[in-house]
Amino acid sequence: MKIAIASGKGGTGKTTLAVNLASYIAGLEDVTGKVVLVDMDVEEPNSGLFIKGDLMKSEIKYRMVPEWIGDKCTFCKKCAGVCNFNALAYIGVSVLIFPELCHSCYACSELCPEDALPMKADRMGELRHYSISDNLHFVESRLDIGIEQAVPLIKETHDFLKSEYDESDIKIVDSPPGTSCPVIEAVKDADLVVLVTEPTPFGLNDLKLAVDTMKELDKRFAVVINRSGIGNDEVERYCFDNGISLIGKIPQMQLAAELYSKGQLMIEIDEIKREIDKIWRNIVELK
Ligand code: SF4
Ligand code: SF4
Repeated sequence: MKIAIASGKGGTGKTTLAVNLASYIAGLEDVTGKVVLVDMDVEEPNSGLFIKGDLMKSEIKYRMVPEWIGDKCTFCKKCAGVCNFNALAYIGVSVLIFPELCHSCYACSELCPEDALPMKADRMGELRHYSISDNLHFVESRLDIGIEQAVPLIKETHDFLKSEYDESDIKIVDSPPGTSCPVIEAVKDADLVVLVTEPTPFGLNDLKLAVDTMKELDKRFAVVINRSGIGNDEVERYCFDNGISLIGKIPQMQLAAELYSKGQLMIEIDEIKREIDKIWRNIVELK
């Protein structure tokens, strides 16, 4: 089972829900198999602030980018204009590569008749694999500073999960915020996407964008309201009017904010623990 926790914008409590949900599920007697919390917010992973464990594995991750070999180039110009991402330019008598724009599509490399654009491995980030307890694991991927393409590292993280875990293991994915390519890659094979929002006009606006994205992707999704009690009831009315499952409301509490600021779990508070339990039971029903 793979559950993606996403949101239309950052700061709504997506990571908070992911970390607390994974920790809570791992403690349930009726859950067999492993629970894996996966931080795919690779540009700014912060689940690790709330969950500590022993490092089992660390892998440097690479993507493939072309390298121009000037000695082999016959200046035929066949590569000029082939790149859809403006990552390659034929200027004067040289070919310039802009690795940060490259999507590793291999088009230029395959097209070159002289093998003057071989693909080479270029470091993009690191994946870390932790054991938190016997049945709770944590996977965190982090892009290197200056690397702009998040999607390749998210793909590598999916591959890692497939190689390390069974179908029966529960994966809770902390997705990147927003509605762009990294989110789409992070949620692509999720059985259910949980959209976290706040009960405010801004929260509703971003929720609508996220809902449109999930519908476009034909993904099954549900909504959780975080910081319930602030703002208004427009999010609830929107969900009701549109037949969207609202599977939980995490209350706004000063104690929760204090625990958060110390990097501690909110399931230490009974009221929030009960709500996380309700969210989990609803997920199981919907999945
Ligand atoms: S591999 Fe693809 S994306 Fe990268 S420079 Fe070549 S054509 Fe452009
Ligand atoms: S296709 Fe190859 S040989 Fe032709 S200009 Fe480009 S790099 Fe040079």
